[in-house]
Amino acid sequence: MIENENLSFGANPPGEPRIIPRDHHCLSRKQIDPDVVKVLYRLHRRGYLAYLVGGSVRDLLLGHQPKDFDIGTDATPAQIRRLFRNCFLIGRRFRLAVLRFPGNKLVEVTTFRRHPGLDEMPENSEEHFNFVQNVFGSPRQDAFRRDFTINALFYDISNFSIVDHVGGMEDLEARRIRVIGDPPVRFREDPVRMLRALEFAVRLDFALDPAIGKGIDRCASLIAAASPARIREELQGLFQHKISGKVLRQARESGLLPHLLPGYQADNDSLNLLQRMDEKTLSPQPFNEAFGVAAMFLSTFMAFCSANLNLRITEILNKANTIIDPYCRYFSVAKGIKHDARELLVSCYRFARGPGLRGEKRFLRNPNTPFALELFSLWEKDHPEVAEQIAHWRQAICSPETKPTAEKIKARHPRRSRRKQRPQGRPPRKPRPNE
Ligand code: ATP
Ligand code: MG
Repeated sequence: MIENENLSFGANPPGEPRIIPRDHHCLSRKQIDPDVVKVLYRLHRRGYLAYLVGGSVRDLLLGHQPKDFDIGTDATPAQIRRLFRNCFLIGRRFRLAVLRFPGNKLVEVTTFRRHPGLDEMPENSEEHFNFVQNVFGSPRQDAFRRDFTINALFYDISNFSIVDHVGGMEDLEARRIRVIGDPPVRFREDPVRMLRALEFAVRLDFALDPAIGKGIDRCASLIAAASPARIREELQGLFQHKISGKVLRQARESGLLPHLLPGYQADNDSLNLLQRMDEKTLSPQPFNEAFGVAAMFLSTFMAFCSANLNLRITEILNKANTIIDPYCRYFSVAKGIKHDARELLVSCYRFARGPGLRGEKRFLRNPNTPFALELFSLWEKDHPEVAEQIAHWRQAICSPETKPTAEKIKARHPRRSRRKQRPQGRPPRKPRPNE
């Protein structure tokens, strides 16, 4: 079935999978996106293995709505492309086929992978990471290269069974996060897995296998060498899933945090604030990264401000910059996001200092000021001394004087004069030569 496309299978890990037939599990085809079902069926009809894999199987078995659906197959990327007209191949680090459906819906179809043997590795060690990601393998090998047992379950479209090579079903039932293989070995291979373990434990409200804690004890420092882009991706996931406070607290308790975010002062104030932000924004509204960055550093910033309430705004701006700059530089945070985070911090300083500063009206009318007040109110829960100020600012923002009336908005933003309009109706008829 597999073409000669960078393929060598190596040996399968010993043992046989546990097959859970359709009438022994709750995952139904109806819960799967219809386009994904069509893709699975087309692969299957053409003689390839076609499995739903990864997070979507885990989430459906838990009765959650998956974020997306991933497909695993023994068809190579080139074979997949030949099978689907809406397919394009992407990824330098991890080559995979992506199918595009109307509404910009994307479905990833990945060829089963395996760990290459040491003797197969390229000589240049810098190429190892990419190489390891791209050696095709059998479904069993693919399951064993995944991170946690609950993330390695397959749903087989040919008979609707769950294929479990790693004991994931048992862990799902016991509500437990367990690493596939030996945690220190798997963490050394990819230190980001330590953060992912904490993330899934909080997200799913699962217990961590004690071996994970011991593994983190031994390997925590290795995460400092992980790619900032990948760490940022995981951190954004924490904010998006509204679990940043809880996960960073666990990271602090397990000793991972000082290596994950070197220099970040995760005091109780900061972690409480993040947790409140997660709870407050539990609604489906998308997460705003500037708000998250400002929330992470508000406590440190306010500790400085409280002792320096008479500084000029430019000095406060510089301080805010100094505080968030190392984080933004390390994670290559876009300038606009950094600017917004800094403005949120400086607005909190204005709130703390009280009314009467220059430019107050403009400040109150700024559309971002209510968001800053939201942030300051979250901080207030641990600092009741600013409760009165918050009440004042809330009133000031809502007052009709501050809220620009329609006339005032018009006066400030006069409508651009339209381009000269064409006269209505038909253009005048050109005189005929004989007229
Ligand atoms: P989410 O709902 O956040 O998307 P997910 O389990 O689908 O959860 P992804 O980051 O999308 O997580 O990864 C998809 C799958 O790829 C995982 O379920 C897991 O099997 C595998 N995977 C992801 N990251 C790693 C890793 N660092 N090491 C091994 N396998 C991984
Ligand atoms: Mg996913």
